[in-house]
Amino acid sequence: MELIDGKKISGQIKEEIAREVEQIKKDGGKTPHLVAVLVGNDAASETYVSHKEKACNKVGMDSQVVRLEAGISEEELLKKVYELNNDEQVDGFIVQLPLPDHIDEQKVIEAIDPKKDVDGFHPINMGRMVIGLPAYLSATPAGIMELLKRYNIETEGKNCVVLGRSNIVGKPVANLMLQKAYPGNTTVTVCHSRTKNLESYTRQADILIVAMGKMEFVTADMVKDGAVIIDVGIHRIKSDKTKSGWKLKGDVKFDEVKEKASYITPVPGGVGPMTIVSLLRNTIAASQKRIYG
Ligand code: NAP
Repeated sequence: MELIDGKKISGQIKEEIAREVEQIKKDGGKTPHLVAVLVGNDAASETYVSHKEKACNKVGMDSQVVRLEAGISEEELLKKVYELNNDEQVDGFIVQLPLPDHIDEQKVIEAIDPKKDVDGFHPINMGRMVIGLPAYLSATPAGIMELLKRYNIETEGKNCVVLGRSNIVGKPVANLMLQKAYPGNTTVTVCHSRTKNLESYTRQADILIVAMGKMEFVTADMVKDGAVIIDVGIHRIKSDKTKSGWKLKGDVKFDEVKEKASYITPVPGGVGPMTIVSLLRNTIAASQKRIYG
């Protein structure tokens, strides 16, 4: 079994991005600039946004967090989005999800200019990705593809099973694995809460991508010998063995599944760290107008 070390790979990619940003600046180009819009003070969102800001600073990009009150109206938030769409200093921006219940998330996503949609959630970017056109890829699926590539994992002709069909992970990653490209060219099955006899699919998987949000759901008996296991799940549980008082677990029962896997991502340190680097890559692409010209 080989561990897919997302922490190490993301560190390497950050160095590559830092060199690229330095070169852009040396060539007299504009420093790539990412803005994160944070509505309210959800603790997890605060943490994600602060990680994104730190990562930008580390690679020499400009970053800014726009903090808005939890009670902001949908109309006011949309106004902010239009303002950022028209701000030439801003190359790309994200609106950190989830949003408070009184705001229609989809409306906000669709208000973002697809050219600045570095989260890749806008239907234009999703649609372009599905038909294989250049697009901003959503960060977690793009991170998974990058890990498969960096570990030279063979994908062509393999059976890929994706557990979960969310718009941010399951559906886009299933589509990427289906593309006529590397990584890709797999035969994809997507399972969800209405799938009957889930194990009959997981046991056929050469590559199993798990994004269910169900802690340690995938056990060794559900997995084929030699399968590649990508665990997207993140669960924070209390622990008296760590300094912070909590630890992270995935959707896969790592200790037993690793014995059968050929490659496996750990939690933490697998898919998680890749998500931010994908966002940084999209921001460079936006600043260099690589997708839409
Ligand atoms: P989500 O929107 O809650 O979607 C979960 C999916 O799993 C749904 O499609 C659901 O089916 C399916 N599902 C749930 N229980 C099931 C069951 N018992 N059997 C079969 N399918 C089941 O979750 P998400 O946003 O994709 O996130 C999934 C996990 O990844 C979470 O733990 C999240 O925290 C983590 N995550 C990590 C990163 C990262 O950077 N590493 C990024 C995003 C998310 P239905 O569609 O039928 O309801």
